[in-house]
Amino acid sequence: MPFTVDSYAVNSATSDLEPYKLERRDLCDDDILIDIMYSGICHTDQHFARDKWGNAVYPMVPGHEIVGLVSAVGKNVKQHSVGDFVAVGCIVDSCRKCTHCLNNEEMFCTEGNTQAYNSPEPRFPGHSTAGGYSEAIVVPEHFVLKVPKSLQTPTLLPGVAPILCAGVTMYCPLKEFEVSKGQKIGIIGLGGLGLMGVRLAVAMGAEVMVISRNHNKDSDAKAMGAKGVISSSSKEELALHDSTFDLLIDTIPTDHDINIYFPLLKPHKTLAIVGHVGRFEKNIIDLSALILGNRHIAGSFIGGIEISQEVLNFCGEHEIVADHTIIPMEQANEAWKVISDSAKRYIIDISAFSNRSKSN
Ligand SMILES: [Zn+2]
Ligand SMILES: [Zn+2]
Repeated sequence: MPFTVDSYAVNSATSDLEPYKLERRDLCDDDILIDIMYSGICHTDQHFARDKWGNAVYPMVPGHEIVGLVSAVGKNVKQHSVGDFVAVGCIVDSCRKCTHCLNNEEMFCTEGNTQAYNSPEPRFPGHSTAGGYSEAIVVPEHFVLKVPKSLQTPTLLPGVAPILCAGVTMYCPLKEFEVSKGQKIGIIGLGGLGLMGVRLAVAMGAEVMVISRNHNKDSDAKAMGAKGVISSSSKEELALHDSTFDLLIDTIPTDHDINIYFPLLKPHKTLAIVGHVGRFEKNIIDLSALILGNRHIAGSFIGGIEISQEVLNFCGEHEIVADHTIIPMEQANEAWKVISDSAKRYIIDISAFSNRSKSN
C-alpha cells in the first residue's frame, strides 16, 4: 500500500517551501525503504524549484543528497539490510539495459535517467519523483549506496550528504583528467561544488588554488587545504599563474566570462565546466587561447552509480565530508536565500523534523 510521509514542497516557481503530505509508493521486490536522516541543500534544488529549465512539476519536494537508514527491503534485495547506513544521490532509476547503463553511466541512459525529484518515473506512469526534503524515500537497490564505516559518526555523517551530488560532480572530472600528486589544480568558485572539489583534489595530492572573484573566502579556502586564492578580478594576479595549471574546474552556476581562465592552463590541459548548464550569452568565447595553446574545454555531468560508490569510498578513506551547517527543516527557506554566497553546505536534519512531525 502507498503510504504518506511528511515533507516540504514548493507549489509554484515563486512560492516558499511549505509542509506537504507526500505519498510514497509501496515497495517493489527490488526496492529499499530509507528513513532519511540528513538531506543536503543543493543550489540545483532552487534552479528546479524556480523552473530555471522549464520542466518543473508542482508540488515539488526537492533534495538529491540523501543519507539515512534502511528500514525495510523488498524480497529480492541482496546488497543492503535493515539498519544499514545508506545514501542516495541524483539518479534513482534508469533502464539498466542500454549501452550507457551497462557502462555504469546511468546519467546518459538512452531512455532518460530518473532523477531523485521532479522526474517522471517510466515504471510508474503518471508518477513524478520526490526527493530528500522528506521523512522517507523508496529507491531500487541498484541506486542505493553504502556509507563507509569511517563516516558513520555523528559529526561526519551529516556532511556525507553533499558527497552524493557535489562530491561526485567534482570527483568525476578530477578522475577523467587524471589528476595526480604534485599537479596544480584550479577550482573556480568556492560554493557548494568548489568546497568538495578542493577537499578531493587536496586528498589526491594536488596543489590546489581557488579562483574567486575576490579574497573574501581566503580563510575558508585555506582551511579546506587550498594553497591559496587567485582573484579573478585582478589581471596581475591571473598573469602570475600563466600556463601553470594541469586542470581547471569551473563551478560557477551563472553566465560569466570564461576567456580569462584559458591562459592559465598549460598546453594540452583542460578547463572542465560543471556549474553553468546553459548558454554563455553575455560573453563571447574567444578561441585564440585554446587554439594557440592546444588547450581543451570540456563538460562533466554528475556520475554513475559505480563511480558514486567509489567517491564515497574515497571520502571514507580520507575522512572527507563537506563543510556544513546543520539546520532544521523550518529554516530551509532561509538557507535557500543565502546559499549562493556560502562556503558551507546547509544540511537539513530530517530525523529531528521526522520526530517532530510524529509527535504533532
Ligand atoms: Zn545537487
Ligand atoms: Zn539505460
